[in-house]
Amino acid sequence: MLVTLSEILRDTRKKGYAVGLFNCVTLEMMAGILEAAEALQAPVLLGPAESLLGPVSLADYADLLLGPARRARVPVALHFDHGFTPELVEEAISLGFTSVMYDGSMRPFAENVRETARLVKIAHAAGCSVEAEIGHVGSNGSAEDALSKSIYTQPEEALTFAEQSGCDALAIAIGTAHGVYREAPRLNLDVLSRVSAACETPLVLHGGSGLSDEDFRACIAGGISKINIFTSLNLAAARAAHAQFTATSGAFELMPSAIEAVKAETMRLIRVFGSDGKA
Ligand SMILES: [Zn+2]
Repeated sequence: MLVTLSEILRDTRKKGYAVGLFNCVTLEMMAGILEAAEALQAPVLLGPAESLLGPVSLADYADLLLGPARRARVPVALHFDHGFTPELVEEAISLGFTSVMYDGSMRPFAENVRETARLVKIAHAAGCSVEAEIGHVGSNGSAEDALSKSIYTQPEEALTFAEQSGCDALAIAIGTAHGVYREAPRLNLDVLSRVSAACETPLVLHGGSGLSDEDFRACIAGGISKINIFTSLNLAAARAAHAQFTATSGAFELMPSAIEAVKAETMRLIRVFGSDGKA
């Protein structure tokens, strides 16, 4: 069944688990994610990101994903991840997405608050929830880039931002980065505990692919409610298809192994996040 981001995260902090956002860019990835969620009775978020839109548009994704999300036997939120362009976030809301992220983390604080608050009003009127970001989670850099102090979320800023913007979830920067880590990330759990003590808004961890199970559990214990995963599913699907490939393989023959690989990795992560049995 289709639910909002707020509904799907409601009990997370109280019951000590996190819900995964699994970015999907193909129907096979969607199938693997939904099969995993139903097998484990787990709520999930899924959907594309602005940077992952190519020839497949936001409207195409809404057409492809809304039906399966509604028919799923577990709660599913259709999420538009990292919308940098306010117009695209508004389009996602009008297309029926039940969860959108507006990422104004590279903009000045006041502008990020103002734009997030405007989008929150539009989203709430349409039955959609909004995730925002304060501090900045970098991409594909070295651990040193990701650890540069200026990007960590400041606890006082997180509280002020949440109060003034009215956002439903808040992505924070505690030392993770997007993409493939070249060396192990070093999480700052002290920043996390200070932010979660200051701010009751559900907190989101980006750049989850590549973290150890121990890291995930420590982040959830520290107050993380939602964990974003793309890279590990993206790699699992490609590696499985590659391993199956022969000179006579067509795309159709390769897809079942990609679905199975995405399903297996999603099930593994759902168990680590503790969201199994929470549907
Ligand atoms: Zn992200």
